[in-house]
Amino acid sequence: MLALFPILRLWRSRIYWRVYLSYFGYAGRILFVDLSTQQIRTAPLPEFFIHDFLGGYGINNRLFWEYQPPNTDPFSPQNHLILGTGPLVGTLFPGAGKVIATTKSPILATPAKLHFIDNSVAGSRRFGPMLKQAGYDHLVITGKAESPVYLHIQDEEIQICPAKDLWGDKDIYETTDYFIQRNPLAGVVSIGKGGEKLVRYALALVDYSGHLGKFGIGAVMGSKNLKAIVTYGTQGISVADPSRYLKLTRDFREIIANVPMLKNFQDMGITSGWDLQGPLVYEGSMPYRTWKKKLGPKTWKTHKFQHNLACNGCMLACRTDYYIPEGRFKGVTSFTGHHFLPARIALRLDLEDPASAIKLLDECNRAGICYFTVGGLLNWLTRTLPEIYSRDLPSYLSLTRQIISRDGIGDTLADGWYALSEKLELAPDEFSVGTGLFKGADSIQDARTTTLDPQRFTYLTNPRPHHGGTQSIYTLPKMTVKALQDDASHWGLSSEEFSRIFTPTPYYGQFNVGRYAKHAEDCMVVHNCLGTCIVYTLFGTNIIHMERLAELYSAATGISIAPATLKRIGDRIFTLYKLLNKREGWNSRDRISRIWLTPRETPDGSKLLMDYHQEHPLTEHDIEQLLDDYYNERGYDRNGIPLKSKLQDLGLLDLLK
Ligand code: SF4
Repeated sequence: MLALFPILRLWRSRIYWRVYLSYFGYAGRILFVDLSTQQIRTAPLPEFFIHDFLGGYGINNRLFWEYQPPNTDPFSPQNHLILGTGPLVGTLFPGAGKVIATTKSPILATPAKLHFIDNSVAGSRRFGPMLKQAGYDHLVITGKAESPVYLHIQDEEIQICPAKDLWGDKDIYETTDYFIQRNPLAGVVSIGKGGEKLVRYALALVDYSGHLGKFGIGAVMGSKNLKAIVTYGTQGISVADPSRYLKLTRDFREIIANVPMLKNFQDMGITSGWDLQGPLVYEGSMPYRTWKKKLGPKTWKTHKFQHNLACNGCMLACRTDYYIPEGRFKGVTSFTGHHFLPARIALRLDLEDPASAIKLLDECNRAGICYFTVGGLLNWLTRTLPEIYSRDLPSYLSLTRQIISRDGIGDTLADGWYALSEKLELAPDEFSVGTGLFKGADSIQDARTTTLDPQRFTYLTNPRPHHGGTQSIYTLPKMTVKALQDDASHWGLSSEEFSRIFTPTPYYGQFNVGRYAKHAEDCMVVHNCLGTCIVYTLFGTNIIHMERLAELYSAATGISIAPATLKRIGDRIFTLYKLLNKREGWNSRDRISRIWLTPRETPDGSKLLMDYHQEHPLTEHDIEQLLDDYYNERGYDRNGIPLKSKLQDLGLLDLLK
């Protein structure tokens, strides 16, 4: 036995994994935890996973394909929850801290109750880096604990610990406090009462401020009796070429340090972009100028706590802590990455007082349920049945608490839009002051969009209907075609692809949004694989793109890669994600929301859906043609199903055997 000891030590050491894997940037292992049997095991990260699926989002999806039985109920113990990091996570590169969670979402995504596979993305301050420092790139959780537990991961010590003192008692912030008081350097993912009660849009919070999964990651954790996951590691993260990596990081930091809007952004986070984004998400009910005066940037400045939070090494620190300085709710503080959320919920629910919007935000955050979905559902219910449910803060708070505990009407609301639709006998898409639905989910950017930009187009095409489908310079309105071309010139596109995107389109405008969206989706996948933050892409056309990511990836891992290859891997992963959803029954052409085609009525007038440059109103026929172009660009048929030739080209055909 004694003689075996040095061998075991070698097995456990990083040297072993380096020898086995021979790539840097990765921790080199996958951790598997079965909460039913309490079995814990590790496996080496297969080398072909790295070459074909990069990391983070890509390897999560590959693992999900491998292990998840098709047609599993989201709340059954067999539903897998996979958390992944990427090869740049935890390195010095600013903001590289992403955590990706993949599971079957409990959202009722169609009236027939289909569910999509969810890939949620959140920035993390410590969780992602600490998981890697403990020695794991991915964590695969299955089963269901007999009673509430939390999972503690510290290097080789993996423990499933009782959480009965936390469950039902501590909210998300208190749960995170509990672990941080014991180890201030730990990373924490935790759920609140919403997750415990299986509210279908319950999320998990990462390190206090990262929202993981408005599509039910928190509820899936709740269904497994899993209150929290705590990570702490001591093993470090090494890169292949430290001096080159450091230079690339320094160069990038210098570029960001010289961006004129940096100071403003660091001060006010995404609120600093109000004048660009405000008109796009303005929903009406009060004139735009009044909304801006009452709930615009100046208001949030007086409700902003002194410090912002940042993800791992981030220079932007967009996580703003809002607080209530006086009055009935004095002292309440709550995080959100996005100022527009309280401003828009206030507008939607006729709350003119920012303190009311922050109070509602805090109730949702502590319970771990999506504030935006709650706001949308309460808006629908109270506008439809005002004689029963009044439109004021006490009523909203009472209904929110009913959702959290699944009492009375709260039980229906906790099941989301289609459950409420059945109860009200109304179609959500006909709710003219609502947000419209994509796959059973309200979109965080107003689905009654007045501008069909590439980001909004992906609400239609991405299996996960969310603004996280794509994000880059085109998220900003009305960039010139020249600026869009400058940006796209760094994506690793062929000249044919470039020219197809930027050919003026009679049924759209100065470029083709369908073809553009396909490539934007692939780039977004690459960011989500490597773990880099896309907020930086908003700062200019030559900030962070496939060319820079290819350089960083090569310096970090020692694997030399071209930008076009990186993007092609993004294409492969997106198509695998599409196949995962096809396996769950998503076999039809993507459906255009009727809300898109309903003019948005505001006190400032009626607004139609237009192209990105606001030159052409769009019809349903126009959008159908753009959807055909998108499928054609992807190599899919007219129902959005990947063609055999496409699967062969991407090396995915074998998966179907
Ligand atoms: S910009 Fe915001 S989301 Fe992105 S890394 Fe920085 S703090 Fe995190």
